[in-house]
Amino acid sequence: MPPHAFTPRPVELAPYACHESRSRGRRHPEPPPAGHRGEYQRDRDRIVHSTAFRRLVYKTQVFVNHEGDLYRTRLTHSLEVAQIARSVCGALGLNESLCEAICLAHDLGHTPFGHAGQDALNECMRDYGGFEHNLQSLRVVDELEERYAEFAGLNLTFECREGILKHCSLKNAATLGDVGERFIRRQQPSLEAQLANVADEIAYNNHDVDDGLRAGLVTTKELRTVALFARHHDVVEARYPGISERRLIHEVVRRMINEVVNDLIDTTRGRLAAALPTDVEAVRAGGAALVGFSDRIAADHLEAKRFLRERVYRHFRVVRMTTKAQRVVRELFNSYFGDIRLLPDEHREAARRLEERDGIDGRARAVADYIAGMTDRYAILEHSRLYDPRVP
Ligand code: MG
Repeated sequence: MPPHAFTPRPVELAPYACHESRSRGRRHPEPPPAGHRGEYQRDRDRIVHSTAFRRLVYKTQVFVNHEGDLYRTRLTHSLEVAQIARSVCGALGLNESLCEAICLAHDLGHTPFGHAGQDALNECMRDYGGFEHNLQSLRVVDELEERYAEFAGLNLTFECREGILKHCSLKNAATLGDVGERFIRRQQPSLEAQLANVADEIAYNNHDVDDGLRAGLVTTKELRTVALFARHHDVVEARYPGISERRLIHEVVRRMINEVVNDLIDTTRGRLAAALPTDVEAVRAGGAALVGFSDRIAADHLEAKRFLRERVYRHFRVVRMTTKAQRVVRELFNSYFGDIRLLPDEHREAARRLEERDGIDGRARAVADYIAGMTDRYAILEHSRLYDPRVP
């Protein structure tokens, strides 16, 4: 082998991975996909072609979409989550196509304006069953996407739906059938689902450092109080004295991601070697998650998360924007809920249909579905159409 040759990656699926041949299948049975792709690849392709996926490009991660073109949006965040998870799948012998599909779909149910929008909508829905974005992601792929003649939603496999429903209240779990069971029995999801969850955390912890610096909300000096950042900042500065700020930040962030990803792989390998799950059912029956960090990196990650919460997510410039965003969501909800004639035809129809079936909760749900589906800029435009007499 020449000295510069790449080491081939293992492509074999481990016994504890999700194997298509043992899938619990789709809610509406369908003939298998044509020869060139598998069932989980089909899931991924359906997600990529969905309307909700395209809208992620105009939805906030932390910074509201129109604040700048350089920041992460929900779309680029989802792509980064998928990238991190796929590289770990290769190292652990997990099912890359399934994990990619879960990652790409994990935020489909997110409201406009990030967590601020989700909190505001949940508050509006308090008396009508609440609003949880994980559950909404599942609702998007199970019910709201209208693309196929024979069923509502995307009719994804059980394994993909299991991964999308990361968290769920016990009350809601009881109404969800197969994907709700694990919350009631306190079981784990597949390793691919566990990995998608951790990859989400790795992605936002690191890209929010990058975005926070770029937006000028924090400085590298302040970030040096975070051990994970300081360690790699020292290394990069010593190795490349006088390096430009932009390159310095990228060199530090990519080293941070590398360290936590390597730790994740090593720690998970160790746990798998100790637990020796024979298949995915053994993984599900286990009491604790097998995919995770060592105690040291978990503590580092928590420290970074706390820093971001205090210094970035609660920065007055972010709070000022999120307060406005919450007002937009609340006022949209109050208008539509108070008078469904303000809703466009198909959403008014949905409100009537759901109200007939579920009473007032149904009307509220249809309004929440409409608002949750909006992009940041559409929500702002709709709000001005409803509240600003000068806007037609
Ligand atoms: Mg996410």
